[in-house]
This record gives sequence, structure tokens and C-alpha cells, in this order.
Amino acid sequence: MKKLSRKTFFKGLALGTISLPLAIRSCGGKNLAQDSGPNIITGKKYKWKMTTTWPPDFPALGEGCNLFAQWVEEMSAGRMQIQVFGGGELVPPLEAFNAVRSGAAEIGHGAGYYWKGLLPAAQFFASIPFGMNAQQMNAWLYSGGGLELWEKLYADVGLVPFPGGNTGVQMGGWFNREINSIEDFKGLKMRIPGVGSKVLKKAGGAPVLLPGGELYTGLERGVIDATEWIGPYHDYKMGFYQIAKYYYTPGWHEAGTTLEFFINKPKFDALEPDLQAILRTAAARVNVWMLSEFEAKNTIYLEKLIDEKVDIRKFPDEVLATLRQYNEEALQEEIAGDPLSREAYASYDAFRKKAASWAKLTEKVFYNSLQI
Ligand code: CA
Repeated sequence: MKKLSRKTFFKGLALGTISLPLAIRSCGGKNLAQDSGPNIITGKKYKWKMTTTWPPDFPALGEGCNLFAQWVEEMSAGRMQIQVFGGGELVPPLEAFNAVRSGAAEIGHGAGYYWKGLLPAAQFFASIPFGMNAQQMNAWLYSGGGLELWEKLYADVGLVPFPGGNTGVQMGGWFNREINSIEDFKGLKMRIPGVGSKVLKKAGGAPVLLPGGELYTGLERGVIDATEWIGPYHDYKMGFYQIAKYYYTPGWHEAGTTLEFFINKPKFDALEPDLQAILRTAAARVNVWMLSEFEAKNTIYLEKLIDEKVDIRKFPDEVLATLRQYNEEALQEEIAGDPLSREAYASYDAFRKKAASWAKLTEKVFYNSLQI
């Protein structure tokens, strides 16, 4: 029989136009199926749905989901197609976690702290106040045992997690009140999610839950005195500089938030191993792409904010020190009574301490040397 070229052979297998017996015969009768173990490309096609927590095509975050779908389709030569849905298009944003567990969608994208109410330990795989930055999160997840712990946690609820992006360090937020001492947090109505909201409460502030779409008018009309969002890129687009007096740094509550893909575990386990590898690889590529996108765009939009004469302030050191104390208390409350949270935090915190010692000796000294 006619020998197929290598390219035609693999393309045919991928597209399903070559059956496996034909493929084996074309290899001179060598039994590919036996030699290659379970990694048999069947040519089966998949059409999956991804439900996300972001508005459709949302800068960096939604765009990263679109790229994931594109890269998976390219790498699988069209064997897997993923349709991406914005939050609310298939299910409401915060129902993505359960929608993927139930199989209503095969993949989701969001951040672990969104599922705090369903699985409190998940927040440690996104961000906690005064926690690790993007580089340290990746080091913990990929090389420090974090991902294995995360996989174990999600396996028990029928999911497979992948790091799927990082916002990088965030800003402290937009304030219509000067923060000169911890007393200035008293009565401060601020939109700040997660453990950060508990820290604000301990400082005498009033955390307010407002969806992203209501933040601008909330700040403008005094419903809130302050809001955090992300960083210059997204904050500029939200227009906060038009209505807030001060832009504070640093984002003590989110030093480098990891985003995540989560896949329905039975469906992932049933895939051919090469497709599993393609999904894993595409997620890792998004993880790098998204952080790069945030970093690159933040530099551009910071200049725009400076052009708009935004008053950029730094929280006083003693304010940050007090917030850190409150955060320690808040975290102890978070892990009390939840063995899974305790286990995740123990791993996170042990890595964080070592990473902090290293950064103190190197990056901190380096940045100080720049005197910028
Ligand atoms: Ca934020």
C-alpha cells in the first residue's frame, strides 16, 4: 500500500480521515497502538463550552479565555473547539464553578476567591492580602507543591484546576479621602472583596459589595468613599480618575492574583492524553500571556493617568503595618474550623516566608538601588 508522508499521516489522524488500522498498516505493519500505550489519537472531535466570570472579550481576562480557545483549536488541528461565554451569557458569573461541576459547561475561568463560599480553601490559590506576588505564586504552584495541593482540593469536587493568568500587583484603589493614619479608615465605605474586606472592617471601615458596573456612579454619588479595582490599565478604562481624588499604592490586598481554568474532571479524564496535554499547555501559555499583558498595558496606562494629573499617594508605612496585623487575625479566623483551608494556608505561608527572605535579599535591594 501507499506509504503516507509524515505530515499527511498525522494530519489525517488528527482530522479523523485516516483510521487507526490504516495508520498502523501505513507504518509497515508496526503496531502503533501497542507501542504508544494509551496515547492513541482517535480523531474524535470535541465541542466544549467555557463559562467565564468576565464580561465578553474583557481586556486581558476575557481576551485570555478567547486565546485559550484559539490555541487549543490550533494545537489539536481542530479536534477540540471551545466556545467561550462571558459571565451571564450561559450562567451568571459566580455560578461558573458549579456549572462546570455539573457539566453544563466543560471549562470555566475565574479566580479561586470567587468560590470562597463554596470551597473556602480555594481563595489561597488566587490571592490573600499581604500574600505572594505573581512570580512567587507561579513558583509555589509549579515548583513548590502548590499545584498538587490545588489539584487534590479540586479533585474532591470533581474539577481539575490550571493556573490561567495573573493580574500582577494591583493598586490600592481610588479614594475620596486622604489616608494619613489608620484612623482615616473609620467609617470609610469601600468596595474591597475577600479577606481584604475583613481587614477593612477591623480597621473600622465599612466594606460595600457593589458589582463592577456600579462602581463609577457609586463613587461619584458618595455611595462609597473608595474602591479598589485592578491597576492602571483597567482602572483608566473605568474612568475612576474623573471622580476620585487620590490613587493609592500598593495593592496590599492583591499582590499578584492568580486566575484559573477549571475543567470538569470526568470529562478531562476521558480525553485522549494528547488533548489533556494540549489543554495544560494552552493554560500555561495563557498564564504567561495574561501577566505580560497586564504588565505591558499598566505601564502605558500609568502614563495616561499621570497625564491626567492623577494624585498618586502611598499608604503610610504605619498604616500598612497595622493592616498587616489585622490581616493576620483575619486569616486565622478564615482557617479556623476548616481543615482544607488550614492545609492550603500552611503550604502557602511556608512558601511565602521563604520567598520573602529571598526577595528581601535580592529584589528589594535591587529596586532600592534604582532609586526611582
Ligand atoms: Ca482587585
